[in-house]
Amino acid sequence: MESPLSRSATSASTSTQLSERPTAAPSFPRPDAGVLDRPIQYVRGVGPVRAKLLTKAGIETLGDLLMYFPFRYEDQPPPQRIDTLLMDQPATVIGAVERARVGGYIKKPVINAVISDGTGDLKITWFNAPHMRDRLERGHILRVFGKVEAPEGIGQMTNPRVQWLDPDDDPKTWQHGKLIPVYRAIDKLASHVMQRLVDTALEDGLARLSEPLPSRLIKAHALPNRAKAIRTLHHPETLDETSPARRRLAYEELLFMQLAVGLRKRFVKTEGQAPKLHRTDAIDQRIRKRFPFKLTGAQEKSVNDICADLAQTRPMTRLLQGDVGSGKTVVALYAGLVAVANKTQCAILAPTEVLAAQHFASMDRYLEGSKVRRALLTGKTPKTERDKLFADVRAGRVDLIVGTHALLNDKVTFQRLGVVIVDEQHKFGVSQRASLKLKSQNGSKTNTPHYLVMTATPIPRTLSMTVFGDLDVSVIDELPPGRQRVHTAVVRSQDEQALWLELRERITAGDQIYIVYPLVEESDELDLKAATTEVARIANDCLPGARVGLMHGRLRKNDKQRVMADFAAHRTDVLVSTTVIEVGVDVPNATVMVVQHAERYGLSALHQLRGRVGRGAKASVCYLLSDSKGETAMQRLGILCETNDGFRIAEEDLKIRGPGELLGTRQHGLPEFRAANIVEDVDLLIQARNDAADIIRKDPRLAAKEHAALRAELSRRFRERLAFIDVG
Ligand code: ADP
Ligand code: MG
Repeated sequence: MESPLSRSATSASTSTQLSERPTAAPSFPRPDAGVLDRPIQYVRGVGPVRAKLLTKAGIETLGDLLMYFPFRYEDQPPPQRIDTLLMDQPATVIGAVERARVGGYIKKPVINAVISDGTGDLKITWFNAPHMRDRLERGHILRVFGKVEAPEGIGQMTNPRVQWLDPDDDPKTWQHGKLIPVYRAIDKLASHVMQRLVDTALEDGLARLSEPLPSRLIKAHALPNRAKAIRTLHHPETLDETSPARRRLAYEELLFMQLAVGLRKRFVKTEGQAPKLHRTDAIDQRIRKRFPFKLTGAQEKSVNDICADLAQTRPMTRLLQGDVGSGKTVVALYAGLVAVANKTQCAILAPTEVLAAQHFASMDRYLEGSKVRRALLTGKTPKTERDKLFADVRAGRVDLIVGTHALLNDKVTFQRLGVVIVDEQHKFGVSQRASLKLKSQNGSKTNTPHYLVMTATPIPRTLSMTVFGDLDVSVIDELPPGRQRVHTAVVRSQDEQALWLELRERITAGDQIYIVYPLVEESDELDLKAATTEVARIANDCLPGARVGLMHGRLRKNDKQRVMADFAAHRTDVLVSTTVIEVGVDVPNATVMVVQHAERYGLSALHQLRGRVGRGAKASVCYLLSDSKGETAMQRLGILCETNDGFRIAEEDLKIRGPGELLGTRQHGLPEFRAANIVEDVDLLIQARNDAADIIRKDPRLAAKEHAALRAELSRRFRERLAFIDVG
């Protein structure tokens, strides 16, 4: 799901533009781009080539480099006399260069040097170290740290860490041990290169760092100041110092994120004007008649949350969260029908054509025989039909429209849009997201629709406070009655025969089966060949007589839909799929999910796959094939066998794989944290959230003097994405 921070502002023109969350303001002026905002390319030691690598890793400015922290520290002992060195022991030595010689190749020089401390000589060799070329002169004083070897009877070190000492310093100051920061290499930029770049950034930038936090908060939480915290994390005297330094920077990141999210929420709530949509008893009864079942308690509660929102002029911005099959579509349709009953329109956005078609089909079923005028718009809708559809939508002749991003076409204008429902918002690509806006005709004061966002990705609380911090949340935590828990088991390849036997029986009994293969690279010919061979093997050897369909990433859209339709209509018994089957695909007669190489998936992905079955009345099973010998892999799969609770699974996934993996791609719009860890820093997150709420309540424009630095930093971090702060 998208972060509220990643959306750019839209401006009002001839027709009222209704961005996904309304923002209509001049863009926030970029504050003086100081040293910290200096583009990385112009940082000393960085040129165009390095800048490219660094930018790719998210380091775009000198300030970013300051926040590139070591991932560990090397504990160097106090220096030792050369005549006391022991073989095979790591040691620190301080000595003067006696001689140095460069050999080898230009690009891979071998440097031989000898240093001496008066008690003996130490031979040092640097292999493949172009950065050492021309940097060693007789008389230089070096501090080296490495393992002592003695191949020729004389002490020797290979590729030790090295530091040049200032001969004017008092040698007494050299005598203690040291923590040396170790940085992760970035692409071709080795660890020591990163170290030098960071040191340069510290020299040039550290003194210019200002303190953005109000002194009140610094005192209240006893925080070290910012420059000191950054310095400490790069060059701590003791390990004990690093913890408060990191926590200070983590708190700061979380506070700014919570401020941005909170301000955004406040803006949407106070600036947008939505139509009041009432649910009368008559409307309620009419809508309920559409469903051939009673709503579950969780659905009732969500519907009530939504209806309370819809009755306000403050636009609803609500997240509807629920496991696959929990009945979100029904709740969404309820909201849409309230809009229609109030003479407004409803738009439903799905991330893919398959899903849009599926939503439309299921809504169409519920609406059979009703007067609600409904339409489907996808990339495949022919142009002539499309133009007519646009005209109908504009004239208000369509009440409910389901569509893909084709709905975001500039030509789509609504007569009076009441509710927008976005399914799996985080699956929309970045560029599409930027234009995630729907237009309504001008002339109405209540020109902002109510927004309902749906997701089947169970999102742990810490993550939802981060990503969806500006949304109100309704959770459907109860499956419709009669739904079977999907029995899940890990299957080893030695037990495959038994598996095929069971599957044959299932097919004979009229059930359908999904078999999923993970393909890392969809374009990989070899993998595709493997899948095709596999289909033949399944059809001929494993499940003779079964009708097998194959879905893979190379298929054209039409063919994909045909394969899917064949399976849905039970023209095939088995669907072998190399792509992850779309979330939301609904074939109630499918009762078996077989996942090959299950250990290669994240738990949440597996849980979603498993959600494809267990949708009908029949008992369903999920078999996770894995021959992994890893203990953690087996433990993880074990969690799936144990529980069907999507939230518990997501928590585990978050711990193991991090937030990016959990939400699918890097398009999730999560702010990047350098110091904070949203899995572990829950206490800091809550603290930051409370502090941010407090600040916004007292000073929503951040106009107070004590908040000037806070405001400047906020705009430096989020720039034009916070355009709305200046409004009014
Ligand atoms: P989701 O969108 O959350 O994946 P759906 O709304 O598609 O779930 O519902 C999944 C299935 O459950 C559908 O076949 C739907 O008809 C059925 N269903 C939904 N709500 C109920 C209910 N309250 N009682 C019985 N069946 C329901
Ligand atoms: Mg659904």
